[in-house]
Amino acid sequence: MDNKKRGFGSFFVFFALGLLASWVLYTYRTNLFKAPCEEPIRYRIGQFDPRFKIPSSELQKAINKAIKLWSEPIGKDLFTYGSTGRSVTVNLIYDERQENTHTSNELVQNINNAKKLASLAKEKMMQAKSEYTARSSEYETALKKFQRDQENYNAEVDRVNNNGGATPDEYEKLNEQKAVLTAEYNAVEKLREGINSLAEQINALTQNYNSLAMNINKEVDNVNRTYGEKFNEGEYISDITGESINIYEFSSEKKLERVIAHELGHALGLDHNDDPESIMYELNSGPDLVLTKEDIASLQAICKKADE
Ligand SMILES: [Zn+2]
Repeated sequence: MDNKKRGFGSFFVFFALGLLASWVLYTYRTNLFKAPCEEPIRYRIGQFDPRFKIPSSELQKAINKAIKLWSEPIGKDLFTYGSTGRSVTVNLIYDERQENTHTSNELVQNINNAKKLASLAKEKMMQAKSEYTARSSEYETALKKFQRDQENYNAEVDRVNNNGGATPDEYEKLNEQKAVLTAEYNAVEKLREGINSLAEQINALTQNYNSLAMNINKEVDNVNRTYGEKFNEGEYISDITGESINIYEFSSEKKLERVIAHELGHALGLDHNDDPESIMYELNSGPDLVLTKEDIASLQAICKKADE
């Protein structure tokens, strides 16, 4: 978002070319800053790198929106398509900046996927836990019943033995009771085994959930490392070879519109202001394509100056 990229290079050229050249440049620049609100600045699209993966119509649409944004408060078009007279070339230049942004978008996608997996894992874990609670109480009830039946059976066996032994009928009945008791015991054991294996499943699910949660943290760290560096998304350059707007990076349609609007603002002669929501703030930090009071005030000041 650099403003004037005119440094020692062009300053040196001044001296090399001598007085005449600097007079020509002076006249040229004076005209530049008188013109904006009187007649529209022409623009054309120059480099357009397909690696941005957007159709050129989207760039055109973003430019149109940015132009409308600046033109509306003044009530007339401040830019128009064309290349005669004063004209600005808009370039979409692909380098590691946009590459980083694509990577970041992928990383954000990874985080969202990791979150989905973790939340599914958590749901499974919670289901298993509530099943565990339900089956535990089922087991407790079955165990108590078994213990009661066992006591009854033992009491019956004691009674029969105290009476001098079992009659054939009693013997058969006790055998039936014993068979029922054994079946009951097996059922209780099965419930216990089921609960134990459920507990093991819960442990595995918990471990799985924890490692997925750790994955999320790792992915978030990745994004922070990639996003950590601040870089210029675009720049407006005005020198003796002409004027151009170079766009290097945008993470969304809205950001593209905002960075174009910002650089068009520089083309109009606007400087940065201090409201972080502003189009003319030094960073592309605001969410919407809307001019702030500061933006409008400096636009009106520039157009007023042009009227004088
Ligand atoms: Zn800037």
